[in-house]
Amino acid sequence: MTKPHSLPLRESVRRIPAYPYNPSAARIKLDQNESPYDFPAELKALAAERMLERSWNRYPDLGAERLRAKVAAYENWDEGGVVLSAGSNVLIKIMTELAGIDQTVLTTAPTFAVYNLEAQMLGAKLVQVPLQADLSLPVEGLKAALKSETPGVLAVIQPHAPTGHVDSETAVRDVVEAASGWTVMLDEAYRDYAGTDYRDLVRAHPGAMTLRTFSKAWGLAGIRLGYVLTHPELAAQIRKLVPAFSINVLTECVAEVALEHPQYMQQRVAELGRERERIMQAFEGHAWQVYPSHTNFFLVKTPDDAAAIAHLAQHDLVVRPQAGLPVIGDCLRVTVGSPAENDALIAAIEAAR
Ligand SMILES: *Cc1c(COP(=O)(O)O)cnc(C)c1O
Repeated sequence: MTKPHSLPLRESVRRIPAYPYNPSAARIKLDQNESPYDFPAELKALAAERMLERSWNRYPDLGAERLRAKVAAYENWDEGGVVLSAGSNVLIKIMTELAGIDQTVLTTAPTFAVYNLEAQMLGAKLVQVPLQADLSLPVEGLKAALKSETPGVLAVIQPHAPTGHVDSETAVRDVVEAASGWTVMLDEAYRDYAGTDYRDLVRAHPGAMTLRTFSKAWGLAGIRLGYVLTHPELAAQIRKLVPAFSINVLTECVAEVALEHPQYMQQRVAELGRERERIMQAFEGHAWQVYPSHTNFFLVKTPDDAAAIAHLAQHDLVVRPQAGLPVIGDCLRVTVGSPAENDALIAAIEAAR
């Protein structure tokens, strides 16, 4: 047998660490930006009924055409410009495959970790422009890189992850307009929380797309569904890279039911926004400093993250360490939970004064 270390594996994959996540046993999970609430029980029952009616021995639609039509109707978008995938992380990989390999993936530093990992594993040239000190988009730096680098993929996350910062529409438009000849991915995973929406900007720019997901505001991280909205010609190219039959029957049934009942999502988004502001107040005058956020998560700077994590763990809370972020340095990322979970978080913050 050949020893694994002598197999002809690509060095760029070998070099990259596995996706950085350590599961924790703590009861209150504020570490993955998930919704604290499960899909409503009555909607689960409805989805289960539909699933029972389907033939599980048959392949689903090749490109999930029926669900695609429902997403298109919900988003008021041309059906031909919608591409679905089993989680939007898959579409980040696909965009790197489509326009990044042997070319460039341009994004900010810090960025959502998947952009960085995929670019490195697939052998794209990764160019990261540091955020400005106030965490806003480095418009001039990105425009300079758009000029000097070989075109490829520009990834702009809005609201930004992992900062939770929302940029002005002018700044985002300025960067997108400077990116002619590039494919532009506007990652809007958290848009429901911020009330931002770049569909009009995407419509005006043939190389642009918006990336959306059911994993955050919809509270459906477990069913794995993401999509892009873009122009039909670009969508047709992206679709070639999506594995055939990758949207399974479960995902189809659940997402259809969700799209028919968006009110549950909108109510939760409103509640989580109020909860976030309640938590923010607990940090007033505290040695732990919180960054403003327009999403369901926020960054916290503490004098000693290891001690803060241990303190929170004693209160049965788990948060995500973000060590050595460019521009920001070490900090913790905390997800807004249910009111009861946030009470526990606030009590822990108070106890750390
Ligand atoms: C969570 C997240 C996604 C979506 O991931 P899924 O694969 O759809 O669960 C995409 N981009 C950002 C910035 C995210 O935080």
